[in-house]
Amino acid sequence: MHLARFPRVRLAHLPTPLEVAPRLSEMLGLELWIKRDDCTGLAGGGNKTRKLEFLVGAALDDDCDTLVTQGAVQSNHVRQTAAAAAACGLNCEVILEERTGSRAEDYMGNGNVLLDKLFGAAIRFVPRDTDMTAELEKTADDVRERGGRPYVIPGGGSNAIGALGYVDCAREIVVQADEFDLELDRIVCATGSAGTQGGLIAGLAVMGADIPVLGIGVRAPRPKQEEMVFKLATETAVMLGRPEAVSRDQVVADCDYVGEGYGLIDPGVVEALRRAARTDGLLLDPVYTGKAMKGLIALARSGALQGETVVFIHTGGAQGLFGYQSEIGDLF
Ligand SMILES: *Cc1c(COP(=O)(O)O)cnc(C)c1O
Repeated sequence: MHLARFPRVRLAHLPTPLEVAPRLSEMLGLELWIKRDDCTGLAGGGNKTRKLEFLVGAALDDDCDTLVTQGAVQSNHVRQTAAAAAACGLNCEVILEERTGSRAEDYMGNGNVLLDKLFGAAIRFVPRDTDMTAELEKTADDVRERGGRPYVIPGGGSNAIGALGYVDCAREIVVQADEFDLELDRIVCATGSAGTQGGLIAGLAVMGADIPVLGIGVRAPRPKQEEMVFKLATETAVMLGRPEAVSRDQVVADCDYVGEGYGLIDPGVVEALRRAARTDGLLLDPVYTGKAMKGLIALARSGALQGETVVFIHTGGAQGLFGYQSEIGDLF
């Protein structure tokens, strides 16, 4: 594993801290450490910045001048991509899918959307269930017609190039755990477009660090989510020259905490947001880390993780809270 072989631009504050969460640990009956990827720096931080270091590296290597990507209206990935484009002197065109069906003013204009505009991204809104891959191609064609050179980044930055960012994160976690003399039983993260979990699994497998990664799904049912993660982890291992490193049994995604659907809030999410904020002063987000923490709390209560040493990847997203104010503001 030698990541300097891949084009990369430095966008993130790395390594991110690994911090113990003493009061959440006590509440959950396990030793909980938080990998603070909400502190990657760019645009307020989040997990997409690690992926974008390699994706924008590839875009510059291809001599492209415009980043093209897509996401849900309150996409953290789109916010970080818009900022990365600005930081590298590139244009940015984004397509936002009205995936949750919400037309609330704060959902459509505050939070991540406000920041996308501030970073100067050109935004196009499309209805839910639009074929987003086709929209990406259409936008790239438009950029070409105007004489530009587009670089298309898939939703969530999740392909094997983007997942290299989480191969590097796996390396950071193992180095930090060794420094602190921590024997890790498990890593837990939210899993959506699969690049975070896929990259972690590939990185750990290639290093030979036998630490299970539990993904907590935020959108797809379990078979589909695990298939996506396995495919991406395998493609990433291929890029690292170790195609045989990842096996199917290393991929576990618990999708029992999705609730009503992607980006839809339920009382368990509100409880997770409130607990993290009031126990250890942590800001989680309504779409990803709030759902993952809801899952972690439920699993801990069931006794499944009793006494374990767990790293929870804080993948960021708190900027999205301001897009959900009208929905959850009164529930705190
Ligand atoms: C995108 C995102 C995730 C999910 O990561 P994937 O790599 O898409 O699975 C988790 N948390 C936050 C805050 C995100 O923005």
